[in-house]
Amino acid sequence: MQTSRFVELRCLDCRTVHPTDSHSVCAKCGGILSGVYNLSEKLSTNSELRGIWRYGGFFPPVSEIVTLGEGSTPLVKTPRFSKSIGGKVYCKIEGTNPTGSFKDRIASLGLSLAKSGGKKGVFTASSGNAAAAIAAYSAHAGLGCLILVREDSTLSKIAQMRAYGPKILRVRNLFKTRHELDRALAKTQSALRDWLNHFIWAPYNPLLLDALKTIAYELALDDRIAPDYLFVPTAGGDLLYAVYKGYRELLEMSVIEKMPKLVAVQGKGADPLVRSFEQHRPHVDEIKPPARTIAGALRVTFGADHSLRAIRESGGFAISVPDSQILKAQRKIAALEGIFCEVSSATTLAAIDLALSQKKIGRDETAVALLTGSGFKDYSVFSRQKLPPLASIEAIPKAIKKI
Ligand SMILES: [Zn+2]
Repeated sequence: MQTSRFVELRCLDCRTVHPTDSHSVCAKCGGILSGVYNLSEKLSTNSELRGIWRYGGFFPPVSEIVTLGEGSTPLVKTPRFSKSIGGKVYCKIEGTNPTGSFKDRIASLGLSLAKSGGKKGVFTASSGNAAAAIAAYSAHAGLGCLILVREDSTLSKIAQMRAYGPKILRVRNLFKTRHELDRALAKTQSALRDWLNHFIWAPYNPLLLDALKTIAYELALDDRIAPDYLFVPTAGGDLLYAVYKGYRELLEMSVIEKMPKLVAVQGKGADPLVRSFEQHRPHVDEIKPPARTIAGALRVTFGADHSLRAIRESGGFAISVPDSQILKAQRKIAALEGIFCEVSSATTLAAIDLALSQKKIGRDETAVALLTGSGFKDYSVFSRQKLPPLASIEAIPKAIKKI
């Protein structure tokens, strides 16, 4: 284990220092809290550990590590897909994590904190990927687990989390508004006092974001790529902000010379962040429910201001993509490159295509798409296609000529 460089938990806006175990926004100004680390010493990593824990010095301190081998995900060049849209695209494939999504990075840190803090269990609310990750890691840690799921979660996602044996409650209107979500989590905490609220969003769990910044560390140090743009599927904004924070830390330690421009991607019809960015708003304004996009993990009506900060300070932009283009991109990256990502991840590829055609990015500029989850998370679109069987084995040669 590495010595943690953690210094304190501080408000991003007014810089007030809060207790390390805070599970809220700043009591003084309502700003989002963020872990501050000692960056005055040279970067050091633990080469004996794999994945995110190589960078464990940049996490809050834990006495026990709960890991299933998350992180160290592949970065893959996509020559055929790139040619088809006239750009230069790399994919960071988070679907190779143990439960098939980037949330495993957070669950590993979260359950390590819960175990180190002597908690009896963890609870969360999730559209699916976070729930599967938290259920798996709490099983591995031997802790209790309660998941509140939204009513429109796909059955394939619920099926996966069920396998890990958590208690599950399906709740109507769970994510309808920020207020409803707050109420649900507060009611759960009051019923389970010695359990950890593991809801993955900076306003509730600011320190968990530090697990996600390892994506920036891996891109810079392991994949050795300095892309012009990084396209990030964005719901609450944590991933976007965490990657930004990772790059900021690397800049401060003089490990890199510049950070990529960060691009927030949302589905059209569920794009509060894109609208607020384009209207130069100081905050992410809630949009009227219901949120509509085929990208289930991005179906949100609200966001948080740390994501706006990440886009603006990196010199990036925000873009929304319609369902038809998301599905087209998902098929294309699978058929041309053998990369099967979930619908919400394919938003990034649709967005790169759109940004190229709108000349928001140049054809010679490098773009990395963060493919946050595996296509196995929900392949119902593909399983609905009919494939009638041949009458006999003798019919194969004739059938080959037809296809
Ligand atoms: Zn504050």
